[in-house]
Amino acid sequence: MKVAKWYNNKDIRIEDVPKPKPGRCEILIKIIACGICGSDIVEWYRLPRAPLIPGHEIGGVVVETGESVSDYKPGDRVFVAPKVPCMNCYYCTKGSHPVCSEVADRLPGGFAEYVLVPDSIVTHGTYLLPGSISYDQSTFIEPLACVVRAQKLAGIREGQTVLIIGCGMSGLLHVKLGKAKNCKIIATDINPQKLVYADRFGSDFTVDAGENVPEILLARNGRKADVVILCASALSAVEQAWKCVDKGGTIVFFTVPGPEKKVEIPLNYFWTREVKILTSYYCGPPDILDAIDLMNSGTIIVDDLITHKFPLSDIVRGYRLVVEGRESIKVIMTPDASVVSPTL
Ligand SMILES: [Zn+2]
Ligand SMILES: [Zn+2]
Repeated sequence: MKVAKWYNNKDIRIEDVPKPKPGRCEILIKIIACGICGSDIVEWYRLPRAPLIPGHEIGGVVVETGESVSDYKPGDRVFVAPKVPCMNCYYCTKGSHPVCSEVADRLPGGFAEYVLVPDSIVTHGTYLLPGSISYDQSTFIEPLACVVRAQKLAGIREGQTVLIIGCGMSGLLHVKLGKAKNCKIIATDINPQKLVYADRFGSDFTVDAGENVPEILLARNGRKADVVILCASALSAVEQAWKCVDKGGTIVFFTVPGPEKKVEIPLNYFWTREVKILTSYYCGPPDILDAIDLMNSGTIIVDDLITHKFPLSDIVRGYRLVVEGRESIKVIMTPDASVVSPTL
């Protein structure tokens, strides 16, 4: 079978490897769609494990099952989580699933024709897709679950002012989810095209990140934001977040600047204003279920975020579009060689 092996963002090779055979408790999935995530292109995060087969936004169909598997059968349409928590350790029992210390298996990546799902992920990380969720839509389950988790951690609720800094795919999902919660949504980005999308997807207003965002926020909203969600890694974006949070408010690092950058926190200023700083990393099983519900009920529509679809052989092109981040929002790869990209 064909797989895409990632060495770095510019060196991704299509290689032939033997098609795996599921063991007793394993299942084999034929990949139908797999999205390129913003985290797939973060080299400092991925390089220590390279070369690797990336891709964790997976929708596919079960083609073969081990003899002890009874929950799934060939033909089942599924979403598969890239790794699963144990559900028993100290961290899992307090809801901190992403930091579970017992994670045993990691799914081989979805930029391949097939993926072998290990025992633990068959049991705790495989979800049947409702009929209303297409394979393309299923590639949003994992990213939406991460967004759901971040907004849960921040305690976002109706009527709050939420500022989203950075309107790539995740930022736009934050816009949609915040809007669904009846929040006042303000979005910023340096790319005017991204602001057009943020407007279209429900922002109350948008601000060019090159302008004086805190001043415009104050002038147009009457006060600063209850929650600021950082979906951009530039230090200037972090600076902006510091200046845009209201008293008693919360800043969520959904994206981080990277290990080589030093972030200065105006701690004394925040102390007298009771500002909270949070990080949000990945998602847990409850967030995945919530994401499936949100899509299944039509509360969150994702189709309008899909800008490109390529066959696996074009993966270098797909990565380039995501790295450039100019014209693409969501790029989906599929082993189906006959696929054509949607026209914008
Ligand atoms: Zn992801
Ligand atoms: Zn655990």
